[in-house]
Amino acid sequence: MKVVAYVRVSSERQAEKELSIPAQLKAIQQYCQEKGWIIVGEYIEKAKSAKTDNRPEFQKMIALAKRPNRPFDAIVVHKFDRFSRKRDDHVIYKALLNKCGVKVISVIEQTEAETPQDLLLEGMLEVISEFYNANLASEVKKGMTQNAKQGYNNGGTPPYGYRTEHIALGASKTKAVWVLGPREEIDIVRWIFHQYAYEGSGYKKIANTLNEKGVPTQKGGKWSASTIRAIIFNESYIGRKVWNKQDYQTKGKKWKDRSEWIVTENAHPAIITEELFNLCQKRAKERNNGGGETHKPFQTKPNSPFWLRGIFYCDKCNSRMVGHSTSTTRKYGGQKYYICGGYMRKGKDFCPYVGWRKEQIEKIVANKLRSALLRLTFDDQIVGEIHQYHRDSNKHVVASITGLETEIGFLKKRIEQMRQELQTGGGKAYYEDVITEMQAELKEKEAEYAHKKNLYQELILPETAIDSIKHDIRNLINLLNEEVPNPQLLNEYFGKFVSSVIIQRETKMVQITMNLKYGEQVLYQKMIVADWELAK
Ligand SMILES: [Zn+2]
Repeated sequence: MKVVAYVRVSSERQAEKELSIPAQLKAIQQYCQEKGWIIVGEYIEKAKSAKTDNRPEFQKMIALAKRPNRPFDAIVVHKFDRFSRKRDDHVIYKALLNKCGVKVISVIEQTEAETPQDLLLEGMLEVISEFYNANLASEVKKGMTQNAKQGYNNGGTPPYGYRTEHIALGASKTKAVWVLGPREEIDIVRWIFHQYAYEGSGYKKIANTLNEKGVPTQKGGKWSASTIRAIIFNESYIGRKVWNKQDYQTKGKKWKDRSEWIVTENAHPAIITEELFNLCQKRAKERNNGGGETHKPFQTKPNSPFWLRGIFYCDKCNSRMVGHSTSTTRKYGGQKYYICGGYMRKGKDFCPYVGWRKEQIEKIVANKLRSALLRLTFDDQIVGEIHQYHRDSNKHVVASITGLETEIGFLKKRIEQMRQELQTGGGKAYYEDVITEMQAELKEKEAEYAHKKNLYQELILPETAIDSIKHDIRNLINLLNEEVPNPQLLNEYFGKFVSSVIIQRETKMVQITMNLKYGEQVLYQKMIVADWELAK
């Protein structure tokens, strides 16, 4: 077994009870030799802090232990309290190391007493780390895929008309399945599909009727066109379980290719027939009503004059603001507004009516962004800003390269030392084996290092990216300077530069999140917060 030694002295060292660093080391070395273990590293804490986060060597060791290709199987200490003084810390680190398969062994205490509380805490930590450990993510997904194939649920709220039931699988395992909900809900679902298929009712009309009748939604709220639409397109209602449909990289905005979906028929009881479902899909296509295979959202008019569409959000409820023109036939008609989408879809109860005059708001946003862009182009400030942002966002890669450099250095030094000891006759018989092992490890590390370095090269900003951004900024400034800018072009450029615009009514602040992109790569991000009132 390969181990590392960890030694430290405490701040309030009690000479009679505590061994010095060399004495601790010696005890560990002897112990390991007896057991036939190989010490591949020594972490000697010079700092005398009891707090584990103030101990750099400890942190280094833990970081290395967490790596999948860690070079040791156990940490050997003289006494357990060397490892961590605080009970909580101790349990946390031990659980974490356990998870990675690393043991903590004490030279003088054979086994460690564990209180029931410790065991409980460890168990909880295991569950928590399972959620957070990135290494486990793919394993978890595998399990979820398996669940979906067997018709089990992966959590989440079941659709309207269904409930979740937990069924026992063996002694301690349960799985969630969907079962039919109350009779009234089932009837409502059937009624909705019938209205859509045979009565020619649209989403909005169906929602209104339900609201008038006082039928609550699943969450007890009001029905909207989009909740009805979601029902019409939900294959769950014919007993089909579809998982892995949404592309979470696009935050669920896009659907994955159907070939990637995991579909299980008869996963739970159906509420409507497949014929009725298919008829509704056909109707939706005829009416160009969204949904279906491509999951197209309601289409915005291609020649919309509202160029802030898609990036302008309501400060009350965070819905997207949508363009709205009053009828030109009415007196004082032809006005254009941005109105809260939440208000439009779900009404006043959801969001108090919030609208902005189009011209006013566009002028404010254009002015603020123009001055921010001008500032950035002044003296080529943007180049420095982009480089800084790039450095900050790639810190972790740089850190892992530096970590590897340290490890390689350590291995090289250790090999050299042992060789010298062998030459001068001071070495032990097993040194040759250790050297061979360490050399193999060194080779691995060096390969990893070369790979990381390569990765880093790829991360280096191409000059063309910066040139292209500078070019785009100039174009956008010119566009903003035009008397009557082209809304399509403006919308396109804004999409490239700005991820969100929010206007706080009470504080009269405009908040613009700049997000400069080159292809998919984010080159620079910054939030501009400014007073929205225009200088008179
Ligand atoms: Zn709103």
